[in-house]
Amino acid sequence: MSSQTNTMVVKNIGLLLSGDLDNPVLSADTILVEDGLIKQIGYEKDIDVDSASVVVDAMGTTVTPGLIDSHVHPVAGDWTPRQNQMNWIESSLNGGVTTMISAGEVHMPGRPKDIVGLKAMAIASQRAFDNFRPSGVKVIAGAPVIEQGMEENDFKELAEAGVKLLGEVGLGSVKAGYEAKEMVAWARKYGIQSTIHTGGPSIPGSGLIDKDVVLEADADIIGHINGGHTALPDNQITCLCESCSRGIEIVHNGNERAGLLALRTAREIKQLERVILGTDGPAGSGVQPLGILRMISMLSSLGDLPAEQAICMATGNTAKMRDLDCGIIAVGKSADFVIMDKAQHSAGKTILESIELGDLPGIGMTIIDGIVRTQRSRNTPPASVLPTVVRS
Ligand SMILES: [Zn+2]
Repeated sequence: MSSQTNTMVVKNIGLLLSGDLDNPVLSADTILVEDGLIKQIGYEKDIDVDSASVVVDAMGTTVTPGLIDSHVHPVAGDWTPRQNQMNWIESSLNGGVTTMISAGEVHMPGRPKDIVGLKAMAIASQRAFDNFRPSGVKVIAGAPVIEQGMEENDFKELAEAGVKLLGEVGLGSVKAGYEAKEMVAWARKYGIQSTIHTGGPSIPGSGLIDKDVVLEADADIIGHINGGHTALPDNQITCLCESCSRGIEIVHNGNERAGLLALRTAREIKQLERVILGTDGPAGSGVQPLGILRMISMLSSLGDLPAEQAICMATGNTAKMRDLDCGIIAVGKSADFVIMDKAQHSAGKTILESIELGDLPGIGMTIIDGIVRTQRSRNTPPASVLPTVVRS
């Protein structure tokens, strides 16, 4: 073994969930990681455990991909001015979130709304979160809120500078479908992905975006289809699911009943792979360290969705839609894992049954890029069994 390579083995896995909706449960008990990437998935007897620099014994518990929050509003490092809280990202890591996607750094005090200023801020945010990962969490940020007057060249410039996302369309002065459509198409032309705010206004000063605007704008993701918080009428939500093929994002800080309607509609049209989960935090509702876990349990228990499929909506579905190299346990992907077990005293006999009964799992460890980031979560209910680092 070369001394240059960093290898990790996670062994004695009781249940390995892939995050891939096409094949959510893998037959394997051991993962070999080399330099932050998954190198081999199989059984312990076939994997070189002895030469690994770090060995984690999962103690028969469950390994899933690191959870992805498809909708956050970061500002600077691990601080949010929204409720003036520190370390909200580290708190979310304790809830299993290893990747976050910005839907706009809209809470920045004094956020510039002129075109030069909004471009500069997007590029600065992209750089800042690329240079600094709070507690190791991957925050994909630098998501400008588009304003009237932007031209095609602005999107080209942003893309060339490394910006890959638009903030929620509709939070700026571009609110009409025909205006949004042109800018979303320019963004797409240069490889920038877009999300649109869906539903009633979030806070004083924002506005209503209804299904006609969403369909005309044709952004890549129907951002919080269940409202943030105020949802569209039911017939508009089902129409959005049925009339386009874009991402169906359900958020924690939305209307739960509308979220369940979107889930049921996606299942009826056999397009569950379009459903992705976010928190939409920090927000008026605060920060949600367990928001993604709570969405998994809510959709699974009240939406009659097998737990292993609900987990795909917070991992592989989002990764595929957003072209990430994490979110799925497969050779070559980032070694971002959550080791979890059913919570102590859950009525469920297994972790999957406990989630299907509406309980949250207990997290015992998070791993990002093949590095142990947290051990027993300080935020989830205690896991029945904890993994251990047996060699480090
Ligand atoms: Zn929104």
